[in-house]
Amino acid sequence: MISGPSGSGKGTVIKRLMETSDSFVYSVSATTRAPRVGEKHGVNYYFIDKADFESRIASDMMLEHAEYCGNYYGTPKKEVNDNLAAGRNVILEIEVAGAMQIKEKCPDAVMLMITPPDFATLEARLRGRGDNVSEEVIRKRLETAKFELSHLSKYDYIVVNGDNMVDEAVRDIIGVVEAEKHRVTRAEDFTKKFFAE
Ligand code: 5GP
Repeated sequence: MISGPSGSGKGTVIKRLMETSDSFVYSVSATTRAPRVGEKHGVNYYFIDKADFESRIASDMMLEHAEYCGNYYGTPKKEVNDNLAAGRNVILEIEVAGAMQIKEKCPDAVMLMITPPDFATLEARLRGRGDNVSEEVIRKRLETAKFELSHLSKYDYIVVNGDNMVDEAVRDIIGVVEAEKHRVTRAEDFTKKFFAE
């Protein structure tokens, strides 16, 4: 599970991570927000309306969900479970409230936060995006980033994404995933199988 404030570059890092290996699969979330230019239904998100989203919550089809900037975002349960059963590394890109719900429900999930190296870099990235947003929106994004980083201690790993360091960030994430596979707690039946006739 990967979180990171707007400006952390997590989208770019995750995209590159997906390109490195077939073992990673990106969990496509559902959202009630409108698609941005170039975004595709079923690829970036499942774009659905509020009534549809609420009925999916009511029928327990969401692993987690949260409201972010006035819209619902949530992880469809079935796809995640199917991919986990197939032995894939499922990547959830979600904000902190949803991440906390996953940690509660799936204590085995690995929680990783991607951050810029420092606040000045974050601010420079948000201002330099050229998406023509107002000072108020930038300030709101910076406040949200502070809020998200205040949850860092609840995460298991931090990956710092410096400017032009996407490959390094991807390498760090792969290192985390590899190390996690070797946790003794993930090999509980090893000795049982080892001594089996
Ligand atoms: P954006 O609208 O920029 O694509 O995403 C806004 C925020 O929602 C980001 O922090 C993103 O990680 C988060 N997000 C995307 N999908 C989900 C989801 O399924 N659940 C939760 N809780 N957050 C999500």
